[in-house]
Amino acid sequence: MAFANQDDVERLHELLEAARSVVIFTGAGISTESGIPDFRSPGGLWTKYKPIDFSDFMASEEMRRESWRRKFAMDRTMTTAEPNRGHRAVARLVDTGKVSAVITQNVDGLHQASGVPDMQVIELHGNATYAKCLGCGLRHELDPIKEAFLADETMPICTGCGSEFMKTATISFGQSMPEEEMARAQRETLACDLFIAIGSSLVVYPAAGFPVMAKQNGSGMVILNREPTDLDQYADLVINGEIGPTLGDAVAVN
Ligand code: NAD
Ligand code: ZN
Repeated sequence: MAFANQDDVERLHELLEAARSVVIFTGAGISTESGIPDFRSPGGLWTKYKPIDFSDFMASEEMRRESWRRKFAMDRTMTTAEPNRGHRAVARLVDTGKVSAVITQNVDGLHQASGVPDMQVIELHGNATYAKCLGCGLRHELDPIKEAFLADETMPICTGCGSEFMKTATISFGQSMPEEEMARAQRETLACDLFIAIGSSLVVYPAAGFPVMAKQNGSGMVILNREPTDLDQYADLVINGEIGPTLGDAVAVN
């Protein structure tokens, strides 16, 4: 485990003090300390499961079945996960009024669970803690779907419109991005004077376009990640360290 250099933590603290309006951008790395594996680290989800593309999900009942199998095999990790020090530090910054929005690629709901108001969390890749009908958009809770699926692999059907195209409320590879969230994320990115990307390998586009957009618009940009990213050259400060201890120290949160 690599701890951030104290000078870097101090510099982050100073940048936060000087900023008027901060946008926090997070990826799977902020949730690994809560026990949720990320995609690309060794042992991460990517190495176990190749993601199911949206077109395959739509084309094949077997793929839809497989996606529910995976979901419920993984579900305990996600339903029992709790926010960690990194989430708490972000929540504290939001609480002080410095942070206008938390743009996240995560689907685990842990920013909201740590106390960031719903209105200030922009979920670019949706949310895996509930399901949505692709036909009519109706929200469905997972518990009844899970019970029926685990009993005998009964596939869910929408109680609103009868569609069999039910999916966790996440955005899959190949699925179009949510328009409203993308527009809000862009507005917030263009309005901030400090943009901090935390725990993302910054390779999944269009989400990874936001840090560069902020920088090109004249904002400060910080990257906090355990390992280097392709966008490090655009950052004013790159901190390679663990998220919880680094942010916790920079914001004085335990
Ligand atoms: P990623 O797995 O590509 O990158 C995560 C990065 O975080 C890696 O570079 C890793 O080195 C770093 N990291 C991991 N733990 C860290 C720690 N404790 N301290 C510092 N750095 C740490 O994740 P991504 O960029 O978010 O892209 C993956 C996509 O997969 C996302 O779009 C998301 O939708 C989805 N996903 C979400 C979750 C979740 O909701 N928690 C989990 C896995 C994947
Ligand atoms: Zn429906």
